[in-house]
Amino acid sequence: VRRRDVVTGPRGRDALLLGAHSVRALRYGKQLALVAADGRAVCAHLGMSGQLLWRPHAAALAQRDHVHVQWRLEGGEGPGRLVFRDPRRFGGLWAFPSLESLQAARWERLGPDALTIESGALQAGLEGSKRAIKAALLDQAVLAGVGNIYADEALFRAGVHPMRAAASLRTEEVEAIARAVRTTLAEAIEAGGSSLRDYRDAMGVAGSYQGRHAVYGRGGLACAVCGRGLDRGIVAQRTTVWCASCQPAKGG
Ligand SMILES: [Zn+2]
Repeated sequence: VRRRDVVTGPRGRDALLLGAHSVRALRYGKQLALVAADGRAVCAHLGMSGQLLWRPHAAALAQRDHVHVQWRLEGGEGPGRLVFRDPRRFGGLWAFPSLESLQAARWERLGPDALTIESGALQAGLEGSKRAIKAALLDQAVLAGVGNIYADEALFRAGVHPMRAAASLRTEEVEAIARAVRTTLAEAIEAGGSSLRDYRDAMGVAGSYQGRHAVYGRGGLACAVCGRGLDRGIVAQRTTVWCASCQPAKGG
């Protein structure tokens, strides 16, 4: 939502920012907050397949199914609409009277944001945890913003096996993971994200980072670094891919 956009329309609901002015957007982890000048806020989580799409008013949507909410917008860049689509319904929208109440209800229990994670904060979140490091990275209370793709990519980059016990990692390994998470996410954002199936940005553009995945979706293929066939298994109930040479099970 551009600054100075105005949400209008009889079908909008008051709680979802009807009549709002100057909507601004914030992000924490995997969640967005749309905040109006009068203080009301809506939290958006895209889940597995959700999309928030901005369109000029006249432009048709490529896919009109699974549209749960449409906001009509005036001002800003001209009339348009913001559309929330969610084919697989893992995402959602939650309305709050203020950003503070949104943060208290939805963001307070989240760990530090993955984009700026420092090794000390990550270390604190892993302390005493016998869980596999991959399971810990996926736990939004430990680290907010990492999902299955980027957990695998970051662990490969850090040279850490996904099944290593979180608390067993040496300081240098935690430092390498924190650095790898930041770098991997920064590169993926620069590339517009990973569009495996349905991910599109607000303008409807697919990302291209899927073409640069080192391990995710490449089980059985050759490791780009050492040539060994990549292993595939289930960690934290999620398909996981790693290189047994570059990410030794016993640690370095
Ligand atoms: Zn390798």
